[in-house]
Amino acid sequence: YAKQKGGGQFRFFTQQMQRLALEALHVEYELRLAMQRGELELHYQPQVDLRSGEMTGVESLLRWRHPEKGMIPPAKFIPVAEDSGLIIPISEWVLEAACRQAKQWQEQGLPPFTVGVNLSARQFERSDLLGLVESVLASTGLAPERLDLEITEGALMGDVESARYTLTALRAMGVKVSVDDFGTGYSSLAYLKAFPLSKLKIDQSFVRNLENDASNAAIAKAVISLSHSLGLTVVAEGVETLQQKEYLSACGCNIAQGYFYSRPLEAHAIGEFLADTSRLALEPPERPASVR
Ligand code: C2E
Ligand code: MG
Ligand code: MG
Ligand code: MG
Repeated sequence: YAKQKGGGQFRFFTQQMQRLALEALHVEYELRLAMQRGELELHYQPQVDLRSGEMTGVESLLRWRHPEKGMIPPAKFIPVAEDSGLIIPISEWVLEAACRQAKQWQEQGLPPFTVGVNLSARQFERSDLLGLVESVLASTGLAPERLDLEITEGALMGDVESARYTLTALRAMGVKVSVDDFGTGYSSLAYLKAFPLSKLKIDQSFVRNLENDASNAAIAKAVISLSHSLGLTVVAEGVETLQQKEYLSACGCNIAQGYFYSRPLEAHAIGEFLADTSRLALEPPERPASVR
């Protein structure tokens, strides 16, 4: 009986795997078409300096505008792209599109700010990454200091020798490099110290609910002080409430990003966001009508 049951479970398991594999193939097929049809687009989420209130950068976030299913978030298709190798042409497109957009903002006369680009681990490990970054900067004319590459701990701590080589070369070009989702992976502090990094981004799982979660509050505070001891700028991700913003600010966090300030926006809306925030930062608030 046990054997029979086991066999049944096995059959169920392989059927399940087959179904998942077919689904992945289908997404892969659709994703290829999506690239040809220009259905991929980047949205940009503002990053705000907690002291001055100014927008210091934006993070580019990939979206798939599917003709029937609407806007698909990256979590739904990046894993398939990673497994199929499609992540390589997609990442190249992302880097090019983000740098081209940043250059366009500059030409429109917006004040300077950085553009963040998420690099997949597979892309970070490729030997042609440096050449790609160099050629995209050259073809778009974007100043290297305006580009901020986001890399997860996992990618950095895999092959640390080649990671150090790549980071050193990127920094020599003038490009910024940030550690994304910090605290969710396994970073060696010795390597963090030795790597030429610009920023640490505290993962949003530690920011979420920190007003009610004492351990999250303690972790966020510790990461902020660790970053500063390492001479790094610290960015908090997923800031949704005024309380979270105030707490992070009191702990000395430099930059915040999250729905409290803005959801990811289409490129054209960044100019309006900037105009609003710089007006808020420069002009005293209007007095209510009753006082006038
Ligand atoms: P990430 O790089 O850590 O990006 C932050 C994610 O948090 C984004 O989700 C953003 O929309 C979301 N977020 C921002 N503020 C808040 C907030 O206040 N509350 C909550 N609940 N969420 C917030 P998104 O756009 O769905 O991206 C998810 C992940 O997909 C990214 O995490 C990144 O790892 C990956 N990804 C996005 N774009 C790209 C890309 O161009 N290339 C690669 N390789 N990965 C990308
Ligand atoms: Mg990121
Ligand atoms: Mg992140
Ligand atoms: Mg994340």
